[in-house]
Amino acid sequence: MRRTKIVATMGPATSTPESVEALVRAGVDVVRLNFSHGTLEEHAARAEMVRAAAKKVGRTVGILGDLQGPKLRIARFKEGKITLNPGDKFILDAGMDEATGDQKRVGLGYKQLVDDVAAGDELWLDDGRIVLAVDKIKGTAIHTTTVTGGVLSNNKGLNRRGGGLSAPALTGKDMDDIKIAAEIGVDFLAVSFPRNAEDMNMARRLMEIAGGTAALVAKIERAEAVLQPAMDEIIKASDVIMVARGDLGVEIGDAKLPMAQKLLIRRARELNRIVITATQMMETMITNPIPTRAEVFDVANAVIDGTDAVMLSGETAVGDHPARVVEIMANLCEEAENAIDHNADHKDGRFSTLIDKGVAMATMYTANHMGVRAIAALTESGSTTRWMSRVSSGIPIYALTSSDSACRRVSLYRGVYPVKQTKASTDAKSANRAAVELLLSEKVVDQGDLVIITKGDLMGSRGGTNQLKILRVGEHGNG
Ligand code: PGA
Ligand code: MN
Repeated sequence: MRRTKIVATMGPATSTPESVEALVRAGVDVVRLNFSHGTLEEHAARAEMVRAAAKKVGRTVGILGDLQGPKLRIARFKEGKITLNPGDKFILDAGMDEATGDQKRVGLGYKQLVDDVAAGDELWLDDGRIVLAVDKIKGTAIHTTTVTGGVLSNNKGLNRRGGGLSAPALTGKDMDDIKIAAEIGVDFLAVSFPRNAEDMNMARRLMEIAGGTAALVAKIERAEAVLQPAMDEIIKASDVIMVARGDLGVEIGDAKLPMAQKLLIRRARELNRIVITATQMMETMITNPIPTRAEVFDVANAVIDGTDAVMLSGETAVGDHPARVVEIMANLCEEAENAIDHNADHKDGRFSTLIDKGVAMATMYTANHMGVRAIAALTESGSTTRWMSRVSSGIPIYALTSSDSACRRVSLYRGVYPVKQTKASTDAKSANRAAVELLLSEKVVDQGDLVIITKGDLMGSRGGTNQLKILRVGEHGNG
């Protein structure tokens, strides 16, 4: 059974009920609605399609809304595109008209850029396919010399090597989109290009004001977001982080990216946060029927690093094989998981006085060392299962909850499987029995297997887990 979760981006390739259902059947745990494209009606319709497919197939699928953020872009060319050769002089001009770019100059969507860059800086356009060196700034114009040339077309993205651009994470459009996200009832809201904890706090406040309850995802894609103390502050201000390798790679340089991924995954786990690894994991499957060997290794390595989820972007949004790429990715995750030695993960001395965390840690230590077959956590918020899933383990963790939103939230947690409880037991004895019966009916345990059940004195209330019960299936009559 796969522990690593799969996030799939929705797009034209996944816009019919049939294609969405195929995606859900293939094993998608969370879908991403990309607010860079589309209207409220389109996103709402897509969310409904996902909910209907999940219900039909009988799986829990969470919904993540991803804000566009201040993705900096050049304006447009009269002819649609130009070709730059190394050594060519080229001007980015914040003062010129939006659609009048030519071989010599082009407009800028982000006027502030003029104040943010200086002679000697490198600007990367179109994910680094084109590199411009800044010579001087004159008025509204940034004068550059082409370092790496190529075709440059309308509205291409722009990053400064090394980061440091001042644009705040939330644009006016993002603020409007937060209201849309709340209306749709997304389970996760992703903030693009946060610089610091305050960017995340602001998004959280706006989500609350809009009446939404989404968990907040910080996309780590700026150079300053991987420097301390900003990195830890952003992680702590978020529920989930995304290693957004596309933009981050441009900002810090590809060579630094693999170690940044490992560090971010480790810090997220240490700080009890969820982590998604994103971008180009199966990129060539946008057109090809099989992944490259490098892609196979990339997915496996992210799993070994300890990521909760791996994400697909163009592969499922515009690719030729959306369901197939999910199937293949699922298989790669499972095989990698099988090879991990989990007993190595009990050496850290993280100290805490939280009772539910103590129960969670004791559960994982005991489960890993006693050969427990399954863990059933009776939980309202899912928070105990989050701690459990921060410890590496091959043992399934079932989150038994009466809350639909908790089900969708834990759908992103590594090794945690949501189970909706329709009737909550009020006494401990019948709760234990119901939990074991559930594990039996799910066919994850047999008679004689050891299982661990965790719960609180006040069942049905949040954050009160204070008990760990080890029992052998078949002998649970004594509750
Ligand atoms: P994007 O974010 O797909 O929204 O750009 C992910 C990334 O930058 O890797
Ligand atoms: Mn990005």
